[in-house]
Amino acid sequence: MLIGAHVSPAGGLVKAVERGSERGCRAIQIFNQSPRMWRPTAFGEEDFARFVQAQGDSEIEAVLIHAVYLLNCASDEREIADKSLTALTQSLRIGDAIGARAVVLHPGSAKAGAVAPAIARAGGVIAEALAESEHCPLHLENTAGAGGTLGRSFEELAQLVDAAGAPARLGLCLDSCHLLASGFEVRRPEALTDVLDRCLSLVGPERLGSLHLNDSLSPLGSNRDRHANVGEGELGREGCATFLSEPRFDGLPCVLETPGEDRKGPTREDIELAVTVREEGRRARRDRTAPGGAAGGL
Ligand SMILES: [Zn+2]
Ligand SMILES: [Zn+2]
Repeated sequence: MLIGAHVSPAGGLVKAVERGSERGCRAIQIFNQSPRMWRPTAFGEEDFARFVQAQGDSEIEAVLIHAVYLLNCASDEREIADKSLTALTQSLRIGDAIGARAVVLHPGSAKAGAVAPAIARAGGVIAEALAESEHCPLHLENTAGAGGTLGRSFEELAQLVDAAGAPARLGLCLDSCHLLASGFEVRRPEALTDVLDRCLSLVGPERLGSLHLNDSLSPLGSNRDRHANVGEGELGREGCATFLSEPRFDGLPCVLETPGEDRKGPTREDIELAVTVREEGRRARRDRTAPGGAAGGL
């Protein structure tokens, strides 16, 4: 598993690699523009080349680009839908330019309207953005289920994939906090196995592409998206250990989007803790299945 963090590219794209390296990241995630403004950041070929060079010289094996939160690909307002298409296309093209593992996208919101047409609208925008970019994959992130947000269930995520024409570039980013908040029990290995079986049978195992590890301040099924530091929320240290040690997550980029000690994001210590907690989870799984272990070898 490539454990890392969401980091800022303030001061230039290449700064994100530096911040990731300082934190011991093997994966990083960045916003490609200011998250509260539609205006795109103007990057040039030089910025991309320096980024690729710096990443190649670092331990960072995977880069995720998080599309900004303003986007609503499901909007029934023409202007918002158009701006969302432009911004998503821009994110994918930057992903193409820097060889990103994927762009991660919150699929959108139906607001107070009906869900089915909202899914159809989002699928249309996603298909168009993919058609207007080259090869960077797009991962739809499961959501906590607040308001009319799409992607709270695996059925909805599967419908979104279908609505976009089920292209091979479309995948899934699973967020541990959002899973718990939207009502999925993922804190024990058997429970997570069941949840993941259901997810992959609906969406397709080949689409599982990236992960967000966040603990959750809000309880199971609360539909509230509030991230906590690893081990300090409703998932707890054991729940995080379960998520991190899931065998089907092996090899995937897994970034923390946690507040950190002083709300400046994950620190080096937070990344080290996640690595340690993953080992705890792997050990617990081994002990349970070993002869004479808690499972009795049966
Ligand atoms: Zn997330
Ligand atoms: Zn979240």
